[in-house]
Amino acid sequence: MLKNSLIQFRYFKDDPSQLNIDLAEYDQSKISSKNYENLRDLLALSVKVSKEIFPEIFQSIEFVLDKLKIRNNFNFFVTANHIETNASCISSPDLNSAEIILTSKLIELLNYDELKYVIGHEIAHFYFQHHLYPLPSSAKNRISYLNYLNFSRAAEISCDRIGFLAAGNLDNALKAMLKILTGLGEKHIKFNFSSYLDQLRELKEIKGNSNLINSTHPTLLNRMQALILFSMSSEYLNFIGSQNKGVYTLAEIDEKIDSSIQKIVGDELVELNKDIFSRCLMWGALGLFLADKNFNKKEQELFEKNFGKKNLDSIKSLIKISNPKSITDKIHQILNEASVLIKEDKIQLLKELEKISSIASGEKEEIEEVLKELKKLI
Ligand SMILES: [Zn+2]
Repeated sequence: MLKNSLIQFRYFKDDPSQLNIDLAEYDQSKISSKNYENLRDLLALSVKVSKEIFPEIFQSIEFVLDKLKIRNNFNFFVTANHIETNASCISSPDLNSAEIILTSKLIELLNYDELKYVIGHEIAHFYFQHHLYPLPSSAKNRISYLNYLNFSRAAEISCDRIGFLAAGNLDNALKAMLKILTGLGEKHIKFNFSSYLDQLRELKEIKGNSNLINSTHPTLLNRMQALILFSMSSEYLNFIGSQNKGVYTLAEIDEKIDSSIQKIVGDELVELNKDIFSRCLMWGALGLFLADKNFNKKEQELFEKNFGKKNLDSIKSLIKISNPKSITDKIHQILNEASVLIKEDKIQLLKELEKISSIASGEKEEIEEVLKELKKLI
């Protein structure tokens, strides 16, 4: 896939490097057999979009690809589904093409300009290589599960932006979202977005809905607000050649969106991350202080200052009743938990531990050695 200027609009929390995922360079010459398997099923059960059978849908797709300057690596299908208004993009890490499926209900509900938003959104999932993110169902523990869901929600924000660029104007994108959310068509809805967004304020006032932390998608309330904010960013305005310079940069807008989503989904993930971070920091610090096999007065004071008296007292009694080997094992076991943190937090944790290593007493080499051990675990 050729990278083009759309990459600048990726939402900052939709960042695969935080999970140490390298974006794949697609080799256009390689067609895996898996491509054919997907295709075979779809060809049997759905109808492929072609100029001859669905000319208007076909044209909408061509329009979007042209507008976004993305090469056509896609097969589009329409499938009979009169209940769900959805679209999906199927791809896997070893594929260099994708199948995008639109339901009949979705097509019935939207006009072609609104459909362009959906087409752009689905193409963006492939363009941003969201199939490289681990599935929440593959998570081994609660924190990884919630982290993966967080990435999944962030991915939607990026794709909405590309859908919006494809649809050409904000109204088309927002109307598509509102129709998809309610399942209602044109004649029932008066598109008054600001009054709909009052619902977001209400939801925030009642402290959000913590069930939403288990959702792969942010609420449409958040998504619509995110899109409206994006349309006011300097980067977007510059991209469309507007005279208006915008009040906020995309980075500032991304922060606003993040805090708005956080208010709605609650802070369970933030708290879990913080817990692991502070536990690893405390035990890591202990490891560094004990590098010279001695937890001296000065180190105890530093420990108390950073982690509190209660923690100092329990560590002191632990040292009294345990042998050094079991303490080291415990430190290693706890530092191992840091492996579930995202990269940003790991880097921060390492920085803090480095700081502590510079104030621990003992031989420099011994402390360096412990620090190296701890780094390996993180
Ligand atoms: Zn999506």
